[in-house]
Formats: sequence, structure tokens, C-alpha cells
Amino acid sequence: MNKLDRVDYPIKELPSGDKVSLSLFRIDSGQEGPHVHIQASVHGAELQGNAVIFHLMEYFINHPFKGTLTFIPLANPAATNSKIGAYTYGRFNPITGHNWNRCYEDVMARPEEQIGGSLKSFVASNSDRPWEKIKRDYKNFLFQSLKNLESYLSKKGENENKKLFLFLQKVAAPADIVLDLHTGPASTRYIYSALYQKKSVVNFHFPFVLNIPNEFAQAMDEATFTPWVQLQREFKALGKEIPLDFESYTLELGSEELVNLDKGHEDAQHILHYLKGQGMIEASEQFTFERPVQRHLLLKDYRTIYAPMGGLVHFHKAAGELVKKGEKLATFLNFKRISDESTFSRALEPLVAQEDCYIINHCASASVSKGMELFQVAENCQEIK
Ligand SMILES: [Zn+2]
Repeated sequence: MNKLDRVDYPIKELPSGDKVSLSLFRIDSGQEGPHVHIQASVHGAELQGNAVIFHLMEYFINHPFKGTLTFIPLANPAATNSKIGAYTYGRFNPITGHNWNRCYEDVMARPEEQIGGSLKSFVASNSDRPWEKIKRDYKNFLFQSLKNLESYLSKKGENENKKLFLFLQKVAAPADIVLDLHTGPASTRYIYSALYQKKSVVNFHFPFVLNIPNEFAQAMDEATFTPWVQLQREFKALGKEIPLDFESYTLELGSEELVNLDKGHEDAQHILHYLKGQGMIEASEQFTFERPVQRHLLLKDYRTIYAPMGGLVHFHKAAGELVKKGEKLATFLNFKRISDESTFSRALEPLVAQEDCYIINHCASASVSKGMELFQVAENCQEIK
């Protein structure tokens, strides 16, 4: 049996003076291998990842493996605790309005005086060393840069968004693999993967893979892979090829406000199968799960359909379903369109698909105003069996 440790970190102090803390769990195999960091619920209403972390912890406590794991379930406790009625207001900081998963830092793009060094000078002083040593030292440099940035940014007091997100980036700095567990609103299972990870992402056997550019756009996956993309680019500029030996994904595990332990077990099997491919688990270990046809798409083919009118919405299609061009996606009910019995039928207005597509998300609420995001759909998918 492997040992599981827990350390709590106070992450927010409330007006009452009480502190909210998050819990960091660690399992170390004692054997050389990848360092994997897995976190859930940065968006506070997106809960399924916690069920998955529970099953992953259970597996790694009870099975031999190579490497180290850190887990942060409920990574943004203030967001999960932010309840309005029975619902969780979890996507945005209720005080500042920021989207919680757009608060991360492109640390290597910060000026030298803020991070206490620069990527250029790191590369210049490491150009002749073996990759394993460069990699180890770069992780330390990354961690130290984040720490320095944190001190720089808190000179005039701590910004609550920066405090949490620099903390999460620091925890992830020694990692070789980062998995950020999210859900959509009412959603199927899909995964965001940087284009350079095209080969490995297949091992998750997720029904939809959204291939994103190898660039920073403020989310956790990008904040953690971008420094490695930049490192490779800098070495290349000096004429030296190094591997891009780091992977980071955002996994979208169905719909928000839900926890299903049985599905969490299945989700964990997908992740374990991927980690087996990364050399963390014996090749003879078998994980059983359904292997759907994988549909890959580019970010440009992940389209949002905005509500063309306000009203109450009947969604005809569920997340994951194929919709053919001209088929009904939804029907709006709007009573302001009725003025007398002769106009009664105008209350209903269908919305039809303009292209063949798969439903990835739909709005979690049936009451929508004009211009709200109603669906995210996937067009031009490439099937991988
Ligand atoms: Zn999310």
C-alpha cells in the first residue's frame, strides 16, 4: 500500500476573519517516474472531477506505480461554497467578475525584474547540458520565477485571484503531466489538447478532442504547457533540438452541478489508461471502459450558437448527439409574441441547425435572454477509431 499525505493551505480570508483552505494530497511511489498533478473544481460548480480524483487516489494507494502524484480536489473552495439558492455561482469570482480559469500567468513572458531571471539567459547558460539536467533545473527555475512574481505582485497587498492561481501554478511547476478537471454546463465528455499532444491525447479515448493552438490563453493547461513550448522555441533559435517533454490537458467531464461516483470510476479508467501510456503504470495492467469513436476538431470548428431571441427553451438535442443541417436544435416559447387568439401560434419559434454538427454543450438553464450562449457545437470532426 502506498502512503497518502495531506497538507492544508489557507487560500482565502473571509470578512468574518475565518480562513478557507484547500487540501493538497500527495502519493509518492518511491520509484523514478513522471510527476503528475491533477486538480478539480477551479470552476466551483464543476464537481465530477472530485469523484474521479477519489477513484484515482484509491487506485494509486493500492497499486504499484512509478513516479509521484499531487491531487487538489476542490481547488477553488470559495467558488464551490458560493451558493445562490441550490445553485453554485462557480464560474466567475463574484467580487471581481473574473472567469476563474482565465486568471493564470504566462510567467516567462513577464519582465526579468518581476521574475528574477529570464528564459533567454536560462537557455544561454544551459545550452551544452544533457536534457535530463536541463529539464530538472527548468522546473526549479519555473517554480522560483512564480515565487518571485508572487512577491512582486503582492507588494501592495495580495490580489485574491493571483494568490490562488499562482499557488496552483507553483504546485504544478515540478510536474511532467497536468490534468485540470472541469465540466461544461450541460455537456458531453471532451478534452482540450494542445496540437503538439496529438498523438498522446488519443490514449484518453474521449468521444471529443478539441485541438487548441500551442499558445497561452490564460487557462491552466496553457499556463503549464506554454513555458515548455517557449523553452523548446528558445533552444531551437540557438540551433539545438530538445523534446517537448511535458503534457497538459483540460478534461471536461459531463455537466456541472453533478457528481456520479460510478461514472467517476469510468472516467478514472480513461485517465489510468493514458497514464499507462506515459510509463507510470505496468503495461500489463488492463483498464476496462467503453471506447467511443473519437472525434477530433480544431478550435475554429468549435462554434457557439447564441440565442436568437429571449424566451424559455426546449432543447431537442442532448449533449453528444449529432444534429443534421435543417434539424431542430431547440424551440423557444415567448408569450410576448401573442397579442390575441390569431397570433397564439407565434409564441413558439424553432431554431434549426445551419450545418451538420455534434452538440458539445448546451446552456444549463431553460430561461435565456437574446444573445446568450445557447449551444457549443462541433463541426468538421475527424473520426479516429
Ligand atoms: Zn470549467
